Amino acid sequence: RQPLLTVQGLKKHFPIRGGIFGRVSARVRAVDGISFAVRKGETLGIVGESGCGKSTVARLLMRLIMPDAGEQIFDGDAVGERGGISVAEMRRQVQMVFQDSASSLNPRMPVQNSIAFGPIALGTRQAEAIGMARELLVKVGLNPALFGGRYPHELSGGQKQRINIARALAMKPRMIILDEAVSALDKSVEAQVLNLLQALKRDLNLTYIFISHDLGVVRWISDRVMVMYLGEVVEIGPADALYASPRHPYTRALLASRPALDPDQRREEAPVSGDPPNPINPPAGCRFHTRCPHAEAVCSARAPMLSAGGDDAHLAACHMQDPSSGHSQALRH
Ligand code: SF4
Ligand code: MG
Repeated sequence: RQPLLTVQGLKKHFPIRGGIFGRVSARVRAVDGISFAVRKGETLGIVGESGCGKSTVARLLMRLIMPDAGEQIFDGDAVGERGGISVAEMRRQVQMVFQDSASSLNPRMPVQNSIAFGPIALGTRQAEAIGMARELLVKVGLNPALFGGRYPHELSGGQKQRINIARALAMKPRMIILDEAVSALDKSVEAQVLNLLQALKRDLNLTYIFISHDLGVVRWISDRVMVMYLGEVVEIGPADALYASPRHPYTRALLASRPALDPDQRREEAPVSGDPPNPINPPAGCRFHTRCPHAEAVCSARAPMLSAGGDDAHLAACHMQDPSSGHSQALRH
């Protein structure tokens, strides 16, 4: 399948200012030169611990913050460049749904007006936009006669997330970036919203980037998964392959950190322990070497590149990966 979105070398370091002159005293290397593609019609999951840069990636893609470097191609057009697609048009075609459903809706506006707001701002007549908003309420499983005139405080968390999804759909997007979009919901409500997202994706030919700390949810919804650690991509591949035979020790540790479904299940990898190092001054070489049970001398000396090891759809950045066994083993040349 063709890529809908491609990024090359995306980078954002946030300056930290200190002292009486407010000089830049340090930089948080939030996203440190990452490259990936999202194919038309797929869901790309992005996982990692908090602070790994996954939300910053979303904000960079939307240009809510400006990248320091990186090239972004949307459906063949360079974003924000001469002869390419404008940031404004990209932002219409790529919508975002966040976790915090309460604060993203205007508390003083009936929800159908919130859904109609974007199209009205783009020139759609009020009556037409409200009509469309009411159709979208049906699409997200809410009766417009019951819910259209309600205010956000009169809705449950799941209903508010349905409104946010409708608000995104009102812009007729091609892609939706979901950043912890179901993370605040109860498990049963979460499952309903995930099912809704899957149905909408099929009906409307959407492409998703699904960002979450919840590995189980990401596995369920994603076609491919990208694992981030301290601003870098450490592994990317088809969801089935990545969960069945993770290649990067960090991915294996993350998977081992999940509560086991079967308590007798033997763990081959220790769960990830402690907190990630400070992204202001990440470890040299492989950034995971301070927490990696398989680290050797080369790991702190050289940064591993994302490499395929025989399967170019499934990549990991580890000096020790051996794709055939799923166990760590030094590659010797
Ligand atoms: Fe561990 Fe070394 Fe692989 Fe990094 S490169 S994940 S430290 S084995
Ligand atoms: Mg986040």
